[in-house]
Amino acid sequence: MRIMVTGGSGFIGTNFIIEQLEHTGNKVLNYDKLTYASNTLYGEDYLSTKYKDDKRYSFIRGDITNGDTFDEALKTFKPDAIVNFAAESHVDNSIEKPDEFIQTNIVGTFMILQRALSYWEGSGKPERFRFHHVSTDEVYGALGESGTFVESTPYDPRSPYSASKSASDHLVKAYFHTYGLPVVITNCSNNYGPFQHREKLIPKIITNVMNGDKIPVYGKGENIRDWLYVTDHCDAIYTVLTKGRVGETYNIGGNHEMRNIDIVEYILDELGGSTNLIEYVEDRKGHDFRYAIDFSKLTNELGWTPKETFRSGIRKTISWYKKNFLYK
Ligand code: NAD
Repeated sequence: MRIMVTGGSGFIGTNFIIEQLEHTGNKVLNYDKLTYASNTLYGEDYLSTKYKDDKRYSFIRGDITNGDTFDEALKTFKPDAIVNFAAESHVDNSIEKPDEFIQTNIVGTFMILQRALSYWEGSGKPERFRFHHVSTDEVYGALGESGTFVESTPYDPRSPYSASKSASDHLVKAYFHTYGLPVVITNCSNNYGPFQHREKLIPKIITNVMNGDKIPVYGKGENIRDWLYVTDHCDAIYTVLTKGRVGETYNIGGNHEMRNIDIVEYILDELGGSTNLIEYVEDRKGHDFRYAIDFSKLTNELGWTPKETFRSGIRKTISWYKKNFLYK
């Protein structure tokens, strides 16, 4: 299978491509703009160094808002599937500066849908083609103490990030219903693992403890997220890509809800750090209280469940940051 990945130099995309190259015979083209959030080595895409001798991997530096470059990539690579990870992904940045979120997440998704549609139609509308859009549980809004998000939960985004991801999901659904483009969408809970940018909660906690720096915790640290180890997310994406029903949405989750403060304390304990490093800071504007995801559709239909426990996943993550965090 030939998979064109957008945003493959980011956190989840990098893990997805490694999983593909290590565990399948698939060929991968990574199309990435290389923003500040990407994994690079001396200014180049990190994976191009790691897989310099593997002809199954190729890289194009390109922006998803640039339809012509994207078209060229489609014509030369001729993918069987496109997996769209490319996005601005940090909620705090979306609050400070929403512009890029609108451009990449909405305009960019529109642009590649349009080009993917022409490519698919021009190739004789192959049935096996897929446009897989990677999205988030944040589109569903926030929960109170109880309840879970299911695929039919109405969208209720609260931040410019989740609003832009919601808009992109709607566009993807529209291209299925209007033009018949064979799409699938996955909405996943919070991921952690290797290759995540240090602006995000878990890498920030780990690297701050390692550096002896204060760990900023929003509000009282009581916000709850459902956590999933990144390679479990990658496996779920590949399961939906290869076995999911066209036009469907599948939720992905870890069945592991934790308060932010409990995560901080868990990692401090693992690393032997002092709780004196914890520093409570003013809460994030419009901070969603709780997310929890019901992924029984994915389990019942396609047989996917997460493999890692939080303990095994966090140990792998800590061990990776201990070895690698200096190069960022
Ligand atoms: P990330 O910020 O780590 O990586 C995003 C990648 O996209 C980067 O390599 C960046 O260079 C690239 N990119 C940004 N703008 C681009 C553009 N205009 N054209 C081409 N490439 C561009 O993000 P991530 O955490 O890996 O998330 C990937 C996807 O998964 C996103 O769509 C995000 O909404 C979704 N998601 C993330 C999580 C999570 O916990 N991280 C959870 C659920 C869903």
